[in-house]
Amino acid sequence: MPTLILATQNPHKVEEFTALLAPWTVVPLPDNVDLPPEVGETFAENALAKARTAAAATGRAAFADDSGIVADALDGRPGVRSARFAGDDATDQENLTLFVEQVPAGSPIAYVCAIAYVDPEAGSERIVEGRCAGTMADRPRGDGGFGYDPIFLPDEQPQAGRRTMAELTAAEKSAVSHRGRAARELRAALGLDDAV
Ligand code: IMP
Repeated sequence: MPTLILATQNPHKVEEFTALLAPWTVVPLPDNVDLPPEVGETFAENALAKARTAAAATGRAAFADDSGIVADALDGRPGVRSARFAGDDATDQENLTLFVEQVPAGSPIAYVCAIAYVDPEAGSERIVEGRCAGTMADRPRGDGGFGYDPIFLPDEQPQAGRRTMAELTAAEKSAVSHRGRAARELRAALGLDDAV
């Protein structure tokens, strides 16, 4: 089965994409390869820069993702700056607290994920995107997931009810999430389901 390099050193992402791209094998980028800083204005730009770096450094097919949250009430911010919303070294909790202060309950929000795939042998590049529309919860709820999940009510719920992303199981989250959707687009773009 083919192996894809994931341009991240984050083991959480490797685990998540391993499930989403099974039965293909996903391996992290070697520690000695530095990824470029996320300075692009779009998720796609940032994902492509990381995937190109990983493919060039290893000579093998590589992919990378970039994701974040956009709020209508903030004219689409924090977007590509989601991880740094409350400051360059902000924790997930600090970002979430600031988001709760600035975004009214009941207003529209969305998660966006771009995945770039670069195959240096074939000389090909693909970019896919997934989006998950949601609504700002009235207060943080749930212990699962990470980041903004406790206040994110996905508009498409996996079952009846009104649970935040942090109240869903990992499989339920992937079924409706931006990352799950983008990964399914990538499977289709690479013909992964036809190949197995
Ligand atoms: P990156 O794709 O690792 O650069 O992530 C950007 C930031 O977006 C993360 O640090 C989180 O704050 C936020 N984010 C992206 N995806 C999710 C998600 O699935 N749940 C919660 N927060 C997310």
